[in-house]
Amino acid sequence: MGFANWLSPKLARRENAQKAGHGIYALVAVEAGELLAVWGGRVATAEQVAAMDDRRHTLQVEEGLFLIPVGQVDDAELVNHSCVPNAGLSGQIGLVALRDISAGEEVCYDYAMSDASPLTMGFDCACGEPGCRGRIAADDWARPELQRRYAGHFSPYIARRIEAASQAAPAATRRRRRAAP
Ligand SMILES: [Zn+2]
Repeated sequence: MGFANWLSPKLARRENAQKAGHGIYALVAVEAGELLAVWGGRVATAEQVAAMDDRRHTLQVEEGLFLIPVGQVDDAELVNHSCVPNAGLSGQIGLVALRDISAGEEVCYDYAMSDASPLTMGFDCACGEPGCRGRIAADDWARPELQRRYAGHFSPYIARRIEAASQAAPAATRRRRRAAP
C-alpha cells in the first residue's frame, strides 16, 4: 500500500532522541513558502478519535473532525511540534516553510495552528526553545501573540474561530483599533 501523505523529497525522517524518537529534517536548503507536506488519511469523528489509544498522529481538520493514519504511520506524520516553528499550515492539510530552512534543520510547526481539541492537545512540550510554552493546550490558538505570529497559517476552522472572536469584541475596542496608525 502506498503512503497516505506526500512529503517533499527535500525532507526525510531521522532519529530525534529528545522528542518522540523521530523527526523530519531538511536534507537540503528549503526556501520560505515552499510546500513541505500534504497530509492525507481517513476522516474520523471526535467520538472515533476519543476511542483511539494512540492519538499522536492525528490532525484536526474541522470542528469535531480529524485525519487519522491509514494503516502504518508514514514519515509525513512525524513532523514534531515546536513553540518556535519554521513551518506552518497552508489550508487544512498543507505544510509550508515559514522562513528559509537550512540543510540539517528539523522541520517543526506549532500544533496550535492545526489542533484545538482536548482530544489531541494537552501535552508537555520538550521543544527546548527559549519561548517554549511548557504545556501545550487546546485553547492555545486563542493567545493573542500566537494569533499575530501565525496569521494566515491557522487551519481554516481556527481562522473562523479567531474571526468570530474578533467580531464579538466590544465596540469600543474595535473603534480604538481602527484609530490606531
Ligand atoms: Zn515548546
